[in-house]
Amino acid sequence: MEKIDCAVIGAGVIGLAVARRLAAQGREVLILEAEGAFGTGISARNSEVIHAGIYYPAGSLKARLCVAGRSLLYAYCAERGIGHRRCGKLIVAAGEAQREQLGRIAAAAAANGVDDLQLLSRDAARALEPALQCTAALLSPSTGIIDSHALMLSLLGDAERDGAVLALQSPVWGGKVVDEGIILEVKVGADDTAILAQSVVNCAGLGAQGVARRLLGLAPESVPPLSYAKGNYYSLAGRAPFSRLIYPVPEAAGLGVHLTLDLGGQARFGPDVEWTDRIDYTVDSARADAFYAEVRRYWPQLPDDALLPAYAGIRPKPHAPGAAACDFLVSGPAEHGVPGLVCLYGIESPGLTSCLALAEHVVERLLPLS
Ligand SMILES: Cc1cc2nc3c(=O)[nH]c(=O)nc-3n(C[C@H](O)[C@H](O)[C@H](O)COP(=O)(O)OP(=O)(O)OC[C@H]3O[C@@H](n4cnc5c(N)ncnc54)[C@H](O)[C@@H]3O)c2cc1C
Repeated sequence: MEKIDCAVIGAGVIGLAVARRLAAQGREVLILEAEGAFGTGISARNSEVIHAGIYYPAGSLKARLCVAGRSLLYAYCAERGIGHRRCGKLIVAAGEAQREQLGRIAAAAAANGVDDLQLLSRDAARALEPALQCTAALLSPSTGIIDSHALMLSLLGDAERDGAVLALQSPVWGGKVVDEGIILEVKVGADDTAILAQSVVNCAGLGAQGVARRLLGLAPESVPPLSYAKGNYYSLAGRAPFSRLIYPVPEAAGLGVHLTLDLGGQARFGPDVEWTDRIDYTVDSARADAFYAEVRRYWPQLPDDALLPAYAGIRPKPHAPGAAACDFLVSGPAEHGVPGLVCLYGIESPGLTSCLALAEHVVERLLPLS
């Protein structure tokens, strides 16, 4: 049986960041990825926003890792020439009640260490973005956008430079905890192969619970449920008259149908929240009516027929459909009792922003057997 030091399951932005961090410490790392390319899962289907860390409960992993991760990410992008722009975002109030909510959002952000928000009057907001309709707004100057694929390519390059190996088309389908470590059963082409790893980090995104449930010796009750909250996006035909990201005041699950820009200036709107029981990335054109209504609350001049179904992503929610959002779940030896194993569940937004800080956090939790 092949023996290795560390196996990282999943080559999304989190698995790649973890692999990079482990390899930088001189550890032997094998990244096992089910698909034929890295970064084709959740990491390829999101808003590509570098979040400031505004909305998350104080002290939560989401709050701490987003704020720390954002700084690390801006520095890393600048150092490596990864496409990004600190374009800023406006959180816009649609009426008097929402104007009051802006103050509460700013207070929550300050508790997380986000102290650069500026409360703007309607006129001040419109001076920045003349097409905007609102009663007031919060400006977040430290929100930005990033080329997430370039980020993943760079993380992989760093990891490989330090000796990590990426094995594509290598789904982990089972395994067991033994005295010497953790045996992973991996399908490689038509063959099954077993690998004994001293440490395993389960970063399988939508597959994380499945991998964990098939690991004999890991207590099933340590594995949370998994629900899919699909987020659909529509793109804008033509150019948007905005240079910043525009977010409504959050009302339900998710952050509301917001306007984000890619690095080429192309606008897209989303994601909404659609609970589903299967992985299906089709965007239903019937959802367009709801998008027009949401977007016109802050951009009344959105032309008819300007929204085109674009793409969808799926949030891996570690709870029942419709339940309140919860924190990132990092389940390590202290939680489940298996030395050398860390499982990541519920790594939804702001996972992309947090990836470098989350990788540090995970590696700290990973107690080697020896
Ligand atoms: C709609 C949406 C919008 C978002 N917007 C933002 C945003 O603007 N900013 C932000 O910071 N975050 C955002 N996020 C969150 C961010 O995209 C995720 O937190 C991050 O991409 C998760 O990365 P991951 O590596 O955990 O998962 P993934 O990218 O899905 O990687 C997991 C990998 O594991 C592989 N895998 C699965 N099962 C197995 C197996 N059995 N064996 C081997 N490999 C396996 C998969 O093929 C996949 O490549 C958003 C998420 C969604 C869904």
